[in-house]
Amino acid sequence: MRRYRELAPTARTIMTPGPVEVDPRVLRAMASPILGQFDPEFTEMMNETMAMLRELFQTANHQAFPVDGTSRSGIEAVLVSLIEPGDKVLVPIYGRFGHLLAEISERCGANVVVMEQEWGKVFDPEQVIEKMKLERPDIVALVHGETSTGRMQPLRDIGRACRELGSLFVVDAVATIGGADVRVDEWMFDAVIGGTQKCLSVPAGMAPITFNERAEEKIHRRKNVERGIRDASVDRNGSGVIIRSNYFDLSQLMDYWGPRRLNHHTEATSMLYALREGLRITLEEGLQERFGRHKLHERALLAGLEAMGLKLFGDAGCKLPVVTCVQIPEGIDGDAVIRMLLQEFKVEIATSFGPLKGKIWRIGTMGYSCSQKNVLTVLGALEAVLIRHKAKVDAGRALQAALDVYVEARSSMIYV
Ligand SMILES: *Cc1c(COP(=O)(O)O)cnc(C)c1O
Repeated sequence: MRRYRELAPTARTIMTPGPVEVDPRVLRAMASPILGQFDPEFTEMMNETMAMLRELFQTANHQAFPVDGTSRSGIEAVLVSLIEPGDKVLVPIYGRFGHLLAEISERCGANVVVMEQEWGKVFDPEQVIEKMKLERPDIVALVHGETSTGRMQPLRDIGRACRELGSLFVVDAVATIGGADVRVDEWMFDAVIGGTQKCLSVPAGMAPITFNERAEEKIHRRKNVERGIRDASVDRNGSGVIIRSNYFDLSQLMDYWGPRRLNHHTEATSMLYALREGLRITLEEGLQERFGRHKLHERALLAGLEAMGLKLFGDAGCKLPVVTCVQIPEGIDGDAVIRMLLQEFKVEIATSFGPLKGKIWRIGTMGYSCSQKNVLTVLGALEAVLIRHKAKVDAGRALQAALDVYVEARSSMIYV
């Protein structure tokens, strides 16, 4: 008896801030046969993935590997491994994911000091630096691209100040990695978390991270080798407070990803295939070319939305290039529009959280989803659905405005 239908997910046009569409090459990689976790073929793939992650993060850090779990697993691993209970952690918050950094830091036993900025804006770096001088935090944790509000925080000056004042700088670059410039070494980030299901266009389930020797030193002090696999002749535990999580203990993960291959968890084989292929695609395209592509499609989307007469949300000076926030027009049921887009056009866009719930739509232009076909599709569909909902829109102009951007870009050879 067949009780369940065969799996047959609809092919959607996914224009949310993640998860986004995945390149068929990545899906094919995931269907490859399983290898054992100590098979030299597999450990070679682990090493190649580390090398490609260093290029992605634009870093010379040795430590660059994925944590198994979604992006927040990477955030937890970095914070629980770096925060010793009682450490002071400064978290400037300008949206949902800043709150998440503060909450996880609290759970790690930190003395958390927060600063809050109105959603839709970012911090003046000087304001953060002043606060750092006052508070002298052990760690500063900040979001680079805040997907909940569609804003991007400039981090270069804060990075330099962290180095000067002796704070470790932890950056959530989940939304920006692979879609906008994240210069880990140049901007002096000490530990960084990326995401897979956003601009890298790999399914959710891994969190690439990197950290430098400053961070490594602190983690080494807290080193603990699992009792059942300890070798008394070489393993000496550190003098620092033991890391409270076993799964997210970066001192153990470093041994697993290092030459000793000291077993920790079982590496997620098919996800590693996916990440490796996603990274190969990203580096083949070229980082700067990829960022340029994200900016081009953002430009076309913005031109279309504005030509339609829609108002954008947030401070334009710090817009996150890979997420566009649109104010839901007065009298329009935002959720009904989202439902109709999905049902009739198979197009998915998102709303937001907290104070912005029901007030804005968020349209992602990330990774494999960031294409001319998708931008034109979402503009056409949104216009039709808004007309259907009796919203006042300047009909017929959005696609022309977006096409203008594409035609112009092609003729000036910015992008072919
Ligand atoms: C999506 C996102 C996260 C959380 O990622 P999950 O993969 O859902 O755990 C964290 N930070 C930012 C900035 C994000 O955009």
